[in-house]
Amino acid sequence: MKRDYLQRAEFLISAAKYSQSPADEGAEIAFAGRSNAGKSSAINVLCNQKNLARTSKTPGRTQLLNFFQLEGDYRLVDLPGYGYAKVPEAQRKKWEVELGRYLAERKSLCGLVLMMDCRHPMTEHDDRLLEFAAYYQRPVHILLTKSDKLKNGPANSTLHQVEKAINGYSLDISVQLFSALKRRGLEQASERIAVLLEDFNPESGSSV
Ligand code: GDP
Repeated sequence: MKRDYLQRAEFLISAAKYSQSPADEGAEIAFAGRSNAGKSSAINVLCNQKNLARTSKTPGRTQLLNFFQLEGDYRLVDLPGYGYAKVPEAQRKKWEVELGRYLAERKSLCGLVLMMDCRHPMTEHDDRLLEFAAYYQRPVHILLTKSDKLKNGPANSTLHQVEKAINGYSLDISVQLFSALKRRGLEQASERIAVLLEDFNPESGSSV
């Protein structure tokens, strides 16, 4: 049984620009996804804290990167949800550039957890993020969120469909069903995240 690092999460710092990130040491896991995909709910339930991810949503405090301290040199990073209509175009472009820098340059980034609403998986934005992750060889774990909204049959067929689609990337990608509401898939997700953090070898730039 791996240790459950996420339950120790404490807010560390918000960065409006990549250059404001804390020291690039240890290992950090970043949460990404289209806005409304269930990212905040997933972070809160995985960390077992009601309002942890609220920081990232407080109007006027919407920052590029929100860092949370886990144990020792491990961190969780909440990335801005993409496709958020209320973010002005100019701001979104700026974020894209900064986010690109983060994904390209961050040495301690051991992997991405990508949230997709199980009813609308693999959008164009998700595909772009996966292409990016593949280019920089950042492992990805996909959570097909809100799985309580689908019956078992359709939920499993979505899972298989996404499993097939991710086979096309030359990257370490895994996928699972997840429901923050029903607390489904928590252990599987925590386990995968623990492995990504623990097995990370910054020298090689990816998990071993
Ligand atoms: P974010 O924008 O990606 O951070 O998404 P949120 O976590 O704020 O969730 C967006 C909406 O989906 C909210 O109305 C949540 O209540 C709902 N939601 C999130 N997770 C679940 C889930 O597991 N099941 C259901 N039924 N709804 C969920």
